[in-house]
Amino acid sequence: MGKIRPDIGFKRELSRLSGSQLNQCMQCGNCSAVCSLAPAERPFPRKEMVWSGWGLKDKLIGNVDIWLCYQCGDCSTYCPRDVKPADVISAIRQKTYQHYARPRFLGKLVSDPAWLPVAIAIPVVVIIAILSLAGTFRIPEGPVDYSAFFPHGLLNGTFSAITLFFYLLASLGIGRFWKDMKRQTPPGKSGMKSLPVFSVLGEILSHSSFSGCGSRKPGKVAHMLLFFGFALLIMVTLYAIWATVTHHYPLPITNPFKILGNMASLMIYTGLGIMIWQRLFNRRVFGKSGYSDWLLLVSIGLLTLSGTLVQLARLGEWSVAYHLYFFHLVAVWFVIMYLPFTKLGHIFYRTTALLYARTIGRK
Ligand code: SF4
Ligand code: SF4
Repeated sequence: MGKIRPDIGFKRELSRLSGSQLNQCMQCGNCSAVCSLAPAERPFPRKEMVWSGWGLKDKLIGNVDIWLCYQCGDCSTYCPRDVKPADVISAIRQKTYQHYARPRFLGKLVSDPAWLPVAIAIPVVVIIAILSLAGTFRIPEGPVDYSAFFPHGLLNGTFSAITLFFYLLASLGIGRFWKDMKRQTPPGKSGMKSLPVFSVLGEILSHSSFSGCGSRKPGKVAHMLLFFGFALLIMVTLYAIWATVTHHYPLPITNPFKILGNMASLMIYTGLGIMIWQRLFNRRVFGKSGYSDWLLLVSIGLLTLSGTLVQLARLGEWSVAYHLYFFHLVAVWFVIMYLPFTKLGHIFYRTTALLYARTIGRK
């Protein structure tokens, strides 16, 4: 048996992020009893609360169960000591993104508000460098033509290469996460099944776990709108990149992909609106909203809004059209390039954890 190594700094961090008085937990187990997603065998979140109280970082990071929780808030509602287990689990997930981020600097950059100016400055400097390199760093006269200012080929190429590089670094972290889950929750006697890719994909697309997650029904609708809206926008963006290379760009407003993109934006605005409203006015369920929660919602909101404005600015010949496009590119960097290191990284971590959980038969 390995040594138990308490990490008091980690415990303090969890307390700060969750607003929870961890020492107040009396280990009654109410939280596990009311959780509709906790498996019968070794249920959560009571054991995670005990480990959090001891600062057992090694047991908490790489723990598959924190990803089976969809933060419905039931456990916090029924905790007799108001220790907020749902917020603690959320804080552990947040620490997970930072723990596996490589280089660590990237995790720090998007989790600490003190680093926000640097996180913004990096894409600004890179975009200015690309424009300078292409020799287009001067607002063109005449009708708005984004391609006259922004060298699409160079921009798309550089952004794609940096995204691939960041995601490659993230995949190394995901690999370590898989190994840690295996160490923390080893497969039982029946061993590991083959990867249930399609059933996990079905679980994610249908949001079935949200349905089983107590009080959070409106959260399911909001998450679905955001999830499918975001997926559609990615698809439309890929098509737009292809269009810049193969045929005339920009796409007319009546182009089916353009229509799809605007529908996706509407879905995102609606989903974001519900989520922001819930975080502001339904604290019983959503608990404490921290920097990473707001950074995610605000950056997706600004990305979508700037995309809509860029389109309107071109059609309406606005004088600020190029500035808006520049802002949009910074927002793209923030959401897409930084994705594995922000809360949006749950796309990767939850999917990996679900795959592992189902592979070892944990439901
Ligand atoms: S977090 Fe609350 S409900 Fe859960 S074991 Fe501790 S005191 Fe009991
Ligand atoms: S927030 Fe909901 S799903 Fe997560 S542990 Fe608590 S009761 Fe279970």
